[in-house]
Amino acid sequence: MRYLLLSDIHSNLEALEAVLEEASGEYDSILCCGDLVGYGPDPGAVVDRIRDLKPRIVRGNHDKAVLNLSELAYFNPLARAAAFWTREQLSSEQKEYLRILPQGPLILPEATVVHGSLLDEDEYLFAPLEAGASLQLAWNAVTFMGHTHVQGGFIRTGDGEILPIRHPFLQADKPGLLSLLPDSRYLINPGSVGQPRDRDPRAAFAIFEPLENCVKYLRVEYPVKTTQEKMRKAGLPDYLIERLSVGK
Ligand code: ZN
Repeated sequence: MRYLLLSDIHSNLEALEAVLEEASGEYDSILCCGDLVGYGPDPGAVVDRIRDLKPRIVRGNHDKAVLNLSELAYFNPLARAAAFWTREQLSSEQKEYLRILPQGPLILPEATVVHGSLLDEDEYLFAPLEAGASLQLAWNAVTFMGHTHVQGGFIRTGDGEILPIRHPFLQADKPGLLSLLPDSRYLINPGSVGQPRDRDPRAAFAIFEPLENCVKYLRVEYPVKTTQEKMRKAGLPDYLIERLSVGK
């Protein structure tokens, strides 16, 4: 079984379609770390597309917040404005799909899926120190997470050291390929499909091949300007439009 890993799609249909096309034929099943909606211009179409793909999925904080306005207290004003707009765009069926998305962790035989961390679906894991508690708790050798919109993640080595996943764990001759070692534990972030924040504006995703013991981190270009034009027409905040060009 090969898994396509998707996270933080954020109502960006162009980015989602580019990823699905690029990954076509390379996976059998989809795992999704949540945040289908919020920020972008196509919440309804993204919910429908994801629902039809039948992924194993957990909810993200934005999926929760568009349905429960009390959650918006934790959002910055721009994210809140986008959440109010998003709520107006969704049909009752689309809202129902978001409402029944399970809270993580989702524990599967080959990996665990969360939005933020194993301890808290809303926790941001930016640094090894923050990742330590989740890696300590991990049920599976591999946990997939999203929420930070930063492709990469963390490894706990056989010596108990916690390090960000980058060189030298990623093979130099095959960019983006992470070989999973049997004595290590991993928190893997495939990156954000629809609003990358790691200074690479291309849509981010990953492919997990348990039989090959590897994860491939991937990126694909998508028509950013089309998405931005739709956001402008919808009257979404300028900052949310502009950040897509720079990936931050
Ligand atoms: Zn997100």
